[in-house]
Amino acid sequence: MNIDPKLEKIFDKARSSIALTREDCAYLLSFDEKSYESALIRATANDVVRKKTDNSAIILGQIGVDVRPCPGRCKFCTFGELHTKFEPSKMSEEELERKMHEFCDEGDLYGLYLMTMHEYDLDNYLRIVEHARKVAPATTQIWANIGDSSYEDLKAIHDAGVSGIYHVCRLREGEDTELDPKDRIRTMENAKKAGLELYTCCEPIGPEHTIEELVENIFIGVEMGVYQHAAMRRVAVPGAPLAERGQISELRLAHIAACIALTSVTVPTLAYMGLHEPNELGYLSGSNIITAESGANPRDNTGDTSKGRGMDMGRCRKMLYECGFDYIRRGDESKIPLDFDYLIKTNSL
Ligand code: SF4
Repeated sequence: MNIDPKLEKIFDKARSSIALTREDCAYLLSFDEKSYESALIRATANDVVRKKTDNSAIILGQIGVDVRPCPGRCKFCTFGELHTKFEPSKMSEEELERKMHEFCDEGDLYGLYLMTMHEYDLDNYLRIVEHARKVAPATTQIWANIGDSSYEDLKAIHDAGVSGIYHVCRLREGEDTELDPKDRIRTMENAKKAGLELYTCCEPIGPEHTIEELVENIFIGVEMGVYQHAAMRRVAVPGAPLAERGQISELRLAHIAACIALTSVTVPTLAYMGLHEPNELGYLSGSNIITAESGANPRDNTGDTSKGRGMDMGRCRKMLYECGFDYIRRGDESKIPLDFDYLIKTNSL
């Protein structure tokens, strides 16, 4: 079967580190995920990303440390204040420490996210960060997943020991949420100015989003010089207002992740490519970040997601192994061979 010359030209650009245009990205996204062309796009993204990273993957952990009805009122999130069933709660230092040991004891966690709602108490957050920094090994970075913040607050967070931030301007921000897209982008700019690495994501992708919407969203991260880009599908959480719009398949998510990988891989600062939630199709399509989760999770009605949708470290290691990665990277970029013996040693089978 012949390969479409336009597609081949885009693949050559990605392999030669020539930036893809919005038109290239839209063209990639236009293919049906069940098509031959989609299989080529996913295989090429997989190949390009694995060559760039010596076939390595990273494991991130996320702990939700502060839960309350959230004024972001995102219609897809389980914490939105108009529909949430969660009672406010803050994680104690003891519980944080216990959960961190589950993530960090084998020394192969690249980075740990400490997540809050859109509004958070900065002093309390700084205390948590300082405590987490003491508990985590030097090879695990601490990252923040917090609401919109000023440069000064982000500088304080950076100075307390945080390396990077997960922040997004969501699809239909301001329409499916009550947050202002300008504030979301300003926070990303503030974070970079404060010395934080930026991890962003095209999210939360639903069946209704057009190719044009996806392209515009993907290019926010591309043009900002991200350290990590990603794709996340919207989970139809029961009780969240947008649940009625349904979900895209894991195959469609893998196709979109591959398109983002090919579009982002030429960004000089890009190191890794994420996928939410973890699944094998995505890890064979250019994604190499997997996230273990514990505590509160916007995609889960369970108070501790490690007992619900969240994956533990053992399942993350095993999924990466099954998908053929040769190494897990620590937060200092050192590599651990990911082989069957390592799964046995870490109790991950
Ligand atoms: S996604 Fe974040 S900002 Fe939106 S309601 Fe949920 S916790 Fe709040």
